[in-house]
Amino acid sequence: MPNRCNSGVQAQSRSRFFEGKVRLVIAKSAGFCFGVKRAMDIAGEAAQKYPKDLYTLGPLIHNPQAVELLMKLGVKVKDRIEHIPRGTVIFRSHGVFLKDLMKAREKRLRIIDATCPIVKRAQFYANYLHRHGYDLLIVGDSEHPEVEAIRSYIQKRVDVVEDAEAAQKLGPWTKLGIVAQTTQTFSRFKEIVAVCLERTKELRVFNTICHATTLRQMEAVEIAKKVDCMIVIGGYNSGNTQRLASICRESQPHTYHIETAQELHPRWLARREKVGLTAGASTPSWIIKEVALRIRHLKHPRS
Ligand code: SF4
Repeated sequence: MPNRCNSGVQAQSRSRFFEGKVRLVIAKSAGFCFGVKRAMDIAGEAAQKYPKDLYTLGPLIHNPQAVELLMKLGVKVKDRIEHIPRGTVIFRSHGVFLKDLMKAREKRLRIIDATCPIVKRAQFYANYLHRHGYDLLIVGDSEHPEVEAIRSYIQKRVDVVEDAEAAQKLGPWTKLGIVAQTTQTFSRFKEIVAVCLERTKELRVFNTICHATTLRQMEAVEIAKKVDCMIVIGGYNSGNTQRLASICRESQPHTYHIETAQELHPRWLARREKVGLTAGASTPSWIIKEVALRIRHLKHPRS
């Protein structure tokens, strides 16, 4: 696996300031999280071991540039298990739907499971609550593959809500269990739990939010408050990057979400003295470095 697949966390080991036309503050948590780095490493090793007929079910991570790199290594993307004729399938860090797991077994595909252990923990608690007779509520995005995967293992109705207002419309319950999509914000999770507490006799809550996500969000907000422009890098299809950008925007209205360095517009940096930089959990370190370099070398217009 080439070095550019390696974690961005290591490369950005501390917040840094670049003296130039603008001062640049890079979040130390920017870039690959543990689960994404693990999935990329697993795919890289698989590409060496099983170079023929190697597939991921859906893009391995929510970053088109990283997926493109994997394709160059021979890792093909198929959206449906039916489209994988033979060979090896890698399940991505978000987890796999029960029906796809069953089909992969039926087809006797070699299975490599790159589900993040923290996502597995959320799956475990959802099943635990279900087995113990609780109605289940997931705090998250109902269309996100991680949430859909959790739901697929529960043979009962599972409600999914993204905000307290939606939770108000549900229930009442007798026994309610709550878990969160791993990349949710803790403040929103707390608000929803508070609403549900008033609508059920018994409540069991497992905080399944990923610590890495919480830290990344907290650090991003701290930086956003101190700079006069914030750049958030990551796939447009990455939920955690979108959330990161929206959290930053609350503190710093001049927040811009980009996927690559080429998208950075010099006008955004006009009259800005201090620029903050963070990136979603699936953003490779080489893209972060390219953006940082471009910011340093851009000619910043006066207005
Ligand atoms: S954000 Fe957390 S839960 Fe999601 S893949 Fe990364 S480490 Fe795992």
